[in-house]
Amino acid sequence: MNTETMAGLVIEQDVTENVVAVDWNDDRDVILTIWDEHRDEHARTLTRDQARELGSALIAVADTAESASARPTHTNPAAFDLIRVPSISPDCRDGGKHRACDGTAWDHERDELTTCSCSCHDQERAE
Ligand SMILES: [Zn+2]
Ligand SMILES: [Zn+2]
Repeated sequence: MNTETMAGLVIEQDVTENVVAVDWNDDRDVILTIWDEHRDEHARTLTRDQARELGSALIAVADTAESASARPTHTNPAAFDLIRVPSISPDCRDGGKHRACDGTAWDHERDELTTCSCSCHDQERAE
């Protein structure tokens, strides 16, 4: 089993828990009610400290994820457009066999056939 110690709390990573309820018992421990794959209910007992530790560990990870995912929003869409792969047929791009090119190329972004954007076709298009 793939276990990892996080802030003193051992988390079994490859277990997905469907937590359907959170409650506390007479000992004032925190009880997680969990559904297994058959929707049978199981209770997991955490001490209050464990529950807080788990909660703060999750918040810390969420904070990290939030700041990580915030980065791409600063990417200039125009700059991204510049690194867009132009649709040039393999004949024109790799072999320099411009005469073999039938003027079509695959647009990998839209996943469809489009016109080859190699400059060798500028002449044909102008005519
Ligand atoms: Zn070409
Ligand atoms: Zn071409």
